[in-house]
Amino acid sequence: MRKISDIELFLFDMDGTLYLGNSLYDFTIELLDTIKKSGRRYLFMTNNSSLSVDDYIKKLDKFGIKASYDDFMTSSQAATYYLDKHHKGARLYVCGTESLKKELRCGGFEVTEDINLVDVIVMGFDTELTFKKLRDVSYLLLTRENIPYIATNPDYVCPTEFGCVPDCGSVCDMLYNVSRRRPVITGKPSSLMLELAMEKAGCTREQTAVIGDRIYTDIKSGLNAGVTSILVLSGETTPEVLEASEDKPHYVLGSAKEILDILRAK
Ligand SMILES: [Mg+2]
Repeated sequence: MRKISDIELFLFDMDGTLYLGNSLYDFTIELLDTIKKSGRRYLFMTNNSSLSVDDYIKKLDKFGIKASYDDFMTSSQAATYYLDKHHKGARLYVCGTESLKKELRCGGFEVTEDINLVDVIVMGFDTELTFKKLRDVSYLLLTRENIPYIATNPDYVCPTEFGCVPDCGSVCDMLYNVSRRRPVITGKPSSLMLELAMEKAGCTREQTAVIGDRIYTDIKSGLNAGVTSILVLSGETTPEVLEASEDKPHYVLGSAKEILDILRAK
């Protein structure tokens, strides 16, 4: 664990940390500017695989934040890296959005809907989910013993303006009830995404901190990767949830504004 003022690379979770749904927190733009002007770096880290990096660039642009492809590390990018390393050239059945399919195709993979041609199953946060996809994945898990099965993220829910909707982890639980199989996770809390982010930014684990509002993904990924972990209480986690959790962050802040205050005071 390092002092926050000594951190060189800030890996920010997005929803609940820099904004909530469609509302940007009032400190976010100044926080990002201050980090950049001080010669430090940040990357946006998201487990949400329903949107592509291009979609995120557009979303941030609406908030007045200019970002480029290099400013991101997403669970889809981590999935592509994992597939490239372990299943190069595999044909994928993707239970995910068209955006995710496009990213995987750009990563050099063939995406197929023909269940007889599938080498690997990929689950994402599928906002275009149909019963046919659930049936296809059930069929593959039950008839193809040990077929490689990966998921971009284990989140159970995704926040919306009215509450939450089921995310990838909840759909994987439905499939567990069918098959008794759990996927390999490439997004947070796997350390993979953080390791790729550090590699991208050229920083060590000692120089890096992960900042997020969720213990079982953001904080756990920081603990798994051996970097400083900072929980913000501006999103999902309540003090009661923190108290009950076995995984304790190095720092607990009301919001990421406190990072701005620390950097300004230096
Ligand atoms: Mg979050």
